[in-house]
Amino acid sequence: MQKIHIVSNRLPFSVKEEGENTTLEASVGGLATGMKSIYKDYGGTWIGWTGLDSDTLDADKQKKVDQLFKQEKCASVHLNSEEIQLFYEGFSNRTIWPLFHYFTQYADFNNEDWETYKAVNQKFADATIDTLEDGDSVWIHDYQLLLVPEMIKSKKPNVTIGFFLHIPFPSYEVFRILPWRKEIIQGMLGADLIGFHTYDYERHFFSCVRRLFGYEISFNQIHIDERIIIADSFPMGIDYEKFKKSAQDVGMKSIKEKSELHKELDKYFLASPNRKLILSIDRLDYTKGIPNRLKAFGRFLEKYPEFRKKVTLIMLAVPSRDQVDHYQQLKKEVDELVGQINGTYGSINYAPIWYFYRSLPFSNLIELYSSCDVALITPVRDGMNLVAKEYVASRLNNTGVLILSEMAGVAKEMGEALIINPVDEEEMADSINQALTMPLEEQKERIKYMKERIQRYDVFKWAKEFIRTLKKAESVQNDFL
Ligand code: UDP
Repeated sequence: MQKIHIVSNRLPFSVKEEGENTTLEASVGGLATGMKSIYKDYGGTWIGWTGLDSDTLDADKQKKVDQLFKQEKCASVHLNSEEIQLFYEGFSNRTIWPLFHYFTQYADFNNEDWETYKAVNQKFADATIDTLEDGDSVWIHDYQLLLVPEMIKSKKPNVTIGFFLHIPFPSYEVFRILPWRKEIIQGMLGADLIGFHTYDYERHFFSCVRRLFGYEISFNQIHIDERIIIADSFPMGIDYEKFKKSAQDVGMKSIKEKSELHKELDKYFLASPNRKLILSIDRLDYTKGIPNRLKAFGRFLEKYPEFRKKVTLIMLAVPSRDQVDHYQQLKKEVDELVGQINGTYGSINYAPIWYFYRSLPFSNLIELYSSCDVALITPVRDGMNLVAKEYVASRLNNTGVLILSEMAGVAKEMGEALIINPVDEEEMADSINQALTMPLEEQKERIKYMKERIQRYDVFKWAKEFIRTLKKAESVQNDFL
């Protein structure tokens, strides 16, 4: 049987240590959910980093970890502290991440980081090659592994390779800044199918391929000597039924069964029936546009005083990459803005912003999605943004309003949201007012259409479509030869 293997930076489990006991805990993230069915159904192996610093593991421990992963059909890649520093925190998160999100001023171009990125990509490629047989397929994920497709293809030309980029692919004028731009494109072109979330990212990729290499591109196929490479867009979905079902469960809970957070939310509404909640959820990342969003909320309270004491913004900011300077500065800026707005418009019994700097369990997320009248999602750049889809899927009676940045990939599928420019604070403030005064019928109409779309194209369909196209890429290539 032809197997399909998955390669991603992290494996879909994290290692848990309790005393002498080492166990694996399954991840619940979107990628893990979508891929699990694929690698199990097709009898493949998942290749990736354990998430541990191998300098802290002795030989026995390493063996034990490898064994645990092997039982889950995973092959572990080990990274030492220098590799984590230079490959992961360095080139991946200080070069590619800011550059591909158009934060050119934040991007570092460091030769040592690049050399380590290459070496670590080779490690992932070698681990994959060890697992592969001719005729198998491989699906490689994301910006940490841009060179892996070519590294595998050069040694295993008879393996069909798919690559999916989960972040934006920037326009040529931004991409060209990267000193290693040609190597990166060459690395990606080792794949037979290259997937992006949106058509715009795909278009930018084609434009870089054309300008840097002059390859012939017809429709969505790139022709290089004896090879045809297909690029296409596959907007990633969510596990729609899981969110719907969990929202139903939340609605059925008796007072006794409710979480503390849920009871607080109930209390908030009980205090006055006209009260409204606005929700904002993201990792604390400079791409998410959090300061602009806060300023816009402040402007909204200034411009529409009738909503003071009647509207609260719940802001969940999940800690992320907090060792990196730009993230520490952002945290300071956000703390200050929250303080300023709460100081200006708050009172003894009213806080305009409830600010949580932590992650919340899944059940709490669902309670927030279910309870909030408006979701305010305003990244300055975002490959997709799954929170927007999760909010819509959790709205059981179809009420609620989504305010969405035009710079998020998800905006391409959510035309019925209130689409805003994330740096236009005036427009955002007016949109908040529009959302809070929108008639229920209009809310339902908008949510209904968005829901139908995300239900139809859920994360399982997304994975299946990619695999279907990968098989097609294989036969296009065979027909050509
Ligand atoms: N999320 C989570 N815990 C939290 C807050 C969010 O697991 O406390 C999840 C959320 O449900 C969503 C993901 O984190 O699935 C964020 O994905 P998104 O595409 O919106 O942004 P990313 O963080 O990948 O840039």
